[in-house]
Amino acid sequence: MYDEQVRAIARDAMTSGESLNAISKRLGVSRAALRDWRDRGERPARPSECPRCGSGSLDKPSYSHLLGLYLGDGCLSRHRRDVYALRIACDDVYPRLIDEAEAVVRTVHPSRPVHRVQAVGYTAVVSYWKHWPCLFPQHGPGPKHRRTISLADWQREIVADDPELFLRGLFNSDGCRVANWATRTVAGQLKRYEYPRYMFSNESPDIMRFCQWALDLLTIPWRMPRPNALSVARREAVTYLDTFIGPKS
Ligand SMILES: [Zn+2]
Repeated sequence: MYDEQVRAIARDAMTSGESLNAISKRLGVSRAALRDWRDRGERPARPSECPRCGSGSLDKPSYSHLLGLYLGDGCLSRHRRDVYALRIACDDVYPRLIDEAEAVVRTVHPSRPVHRVQAVGYTAVVSYWKHWPCLFPQHGPGPKHRRTISLADWQREIVADDPELFLRGLFNSDGCRVANWATRTVAGQLKRYEYPRYMFSNESPDIMRFCQWALDLLTIPWRMPRPNALSVARREAVTYLDTFIGPKS
């Protein structure tokens, strides 16, 4: 017997238009079983209420976090029957961040399973829902850095209430905490000092402005060593970011 979780994943994948062959290989379930689940249509997915166009509720802190992840390494793609896949690409080097991304997606959209799809060098955390475009109205054709990205007023309000989690999402996708070293001679002795700093890189000037805005909300000083790279290097600022971001793992 297949367990309910595998059935749920298979049903979601079939709804999204993935081929029976591909699902069969991915989940190790026979095509006959998949056809059976599809044709019997058991337990049709209960449409979950959308917090934007329906009466669903939104976990705002988690949404602020997810918005940061989406703007950094996320995308939406349309599948059959107007179902959209939200994909957050997570580097395989940081398993804790993959767990975290999965948990955040589940908190924002709790009624359906969250999938992990292995790609070369990264894991995509995937969730299917008709209403992802309601939550990410900046979705559009082409890469984010080639089009204008703006935040809706309701998104700005949520980020302004939780800039820390928004920044956590941004820095954990397109940023990093780097440890720079320098040596100085003190009383005739060579001493080695660590100068940690945070970097955020993004090709979209709009997304870069959102990062600057969220840092400004927390009065964290930043500078732009390059047009597509932001740096936070002052010691107190780094210490503050450490309280809600920290090194990747
Ligand atoms: Zn909706």
